[in-house]
Amino acid sequence: MIIQQITKAIEEWAPLAYQESYDNCGLLTGDSTHEVKGVLLSLDCTEEVVEEAIALGANMIIAHHPIVFSGLKKITGATYIERTIIKAIKNDIAIYALHTNLDNVLHGVNSKICDLLNLQNKRILQSKKGLGNVGSGMIGELKAPAETHSFLQAVKSTFAAGSLRHTAVLKDKVLKIAVCGGSGSFLLKDAIAQGADVFITSDFKYHQFFDSENRIVIADIGHYEAEKFTKELICEFLREKFPTFALHLSKINTNPVNYL
Ligand SMILES: [Zn+2]
Repeated sequence: MIIQQITKAIEEWAPLAYQESYDNCGLLTGDSTHEVKGVLLSLDCTEEVVEEAIALGANMIIAHHPIVFSGLKKITGATYIERTIIKAIKNDIAIYALHTNLDNVLHGVNSKICDLLNLQNKRILQSKKGLGNVGSGMIGELKAPAETHSFLQAVKSTFAAGSLRHTAVLKDKVLKIAVCGGSGSFLLKDAIAQGADVFITSDFKYHQFFDSENRIVIADIGHYEAEKFTKELICEFLREKFPTFALHLSKINTNPVNYL
């Protein structure tokens, strides 16, 4: 099996054309015609993850977040990004990123979050013009109304969040839930407009919490926590496509945020 065969299958699922304009998905290092000995799946690609791949004998890393995002002008090892790239290239390891293209497809990152919350009738929160079932965030309903505080507690424990920051609880019970893995504040208006009781996402800033306007409960569970199941999602997809292939889930917690 060569790298190209894996990336082709992935791109049929999450086409590169669906990534946001600022993004940098696809093969970031490596030669697509090389044979794959093993694949390591991770949310982030860091130096430690490259070391993990070396130890496992895996020569391809598939990560959600692109390690090269806004371009590199020098590769001297001055930053963790440069060091990660140098280590990968020296060890002949291909790095592949599927980021907002996987966020934007129907059976992608947000679908996985919905499933973890047992949401029904899940649909895209903000569709891309002309692309129907492609777009950002998702919304769905719980099987039955849940008491707000216990629901938030359950969310915290499902995602093993170090903290859950939320705006005021407005009603005793909630039913309609909007979600967005990663930084979701740009979707708050859509979540409110579609009548969500709670919006589960991450990276909300202080002033953005005010924008809930007492119409929705914003629940910020942390970026890593919201997206950490993405590696399982990619693994499930690849396992079905290539049942006998060596796939490894990274055991490294790449969350740069710690909680006291
Ligand atoms: Zn993310």
